Amino acid sequence: MKTKMLANLVASIMLAGYAGFAVSASPHWSYDEESDWGAIEDTAQTAVPLNYPYAECGIGKHQSPVDLADVKIVDSKLNKLAARYGVDTPSFFNTGHAIQVNVSKNFTGGLKVGKELLPLVQLHFHEPSEHVFKGKKFPAELHFVHISKDGRIAVLGVAIDIGRENAAFQTILDNMPHNYGEANSTSGIKFNPAKLLPSGANTDNLKYLTLAGSLTTPPCSEGVQWYILTKSITISAAQLAQMKTFYSGNARSTQNLNERSILSNHH
Ligand SMILES: [Zn+2]
Repeated sequence: MKTKMLANLVASIMLAGYAGFAVSASPHWSYDEESDWGAIEDTAQTAVPLNYPYAECGIGKHQSPVDLADVKIVDSKLNKLAARYGVDTPSFFNTGHAIQVNVSKNFTGGLKVGKELLPLVQLHFHEPSEHVFKGKKFPAELHFVHISKDGRIAVLGVAIDIGRENAAFQTILDNMPHNYGEANSTSGIKFNPAKLLPSGANTDNLKYLTLAGSLTTPPCSEGVQWYILTKSITISAAQLAQMKTFYSGNARSTQNLNERSILSNHH
């Protein structure tokens, strides 16, 4: 059962990542009805629990995002985290819920957690931030989504503040289609996801907070390991305004921490 659920989860992420048309295979959802995601019915399914594909959004106990001000434990034995991204010719994908960059099939970069490299699949943006940092929401948040060969998911989250213009983010804005479900994969634009990491951060040994959580959009599947960088990046006010012409308010509210701990690899 557990393996099957994991397989379904990976399938839903891969479909959302690679084939725009497949998005419509799942029931429609919106941020306006966030509190009712768990109750959305898939009328094409008659068998329980398939008729409530987003049930975990409502009943899950390890949901994301959370307020990161809660209990933090410094653990010097946590895995070293290194972002090993490189230049790619990705596809720029308007998912219908966020602006997203899908890496190409032959991209070999990923997130190194200890000795294991989890391949990067896509990155996308939320406005405002989903996680709450030191009591406040940032203007936006970036999620790098990684999936291991056996289906485990790790998301690297980066808070986005207003400040200097961000050239890499501008490349995304300039190549993003405005129509929902549309992907721009023919531009051949070179793009390095590492350019979206905080300047001055040691990408071989990132400072982070970590906790167990979930996808922040339906189906809200759990089993996602979150790594949230303690350093933020910036985009300009004009870039935030341009981002909002695509999506605004595409951020889930914070969820109960329940029995979880938030661990940190530095003081
Ligand atoms: Zn996200």
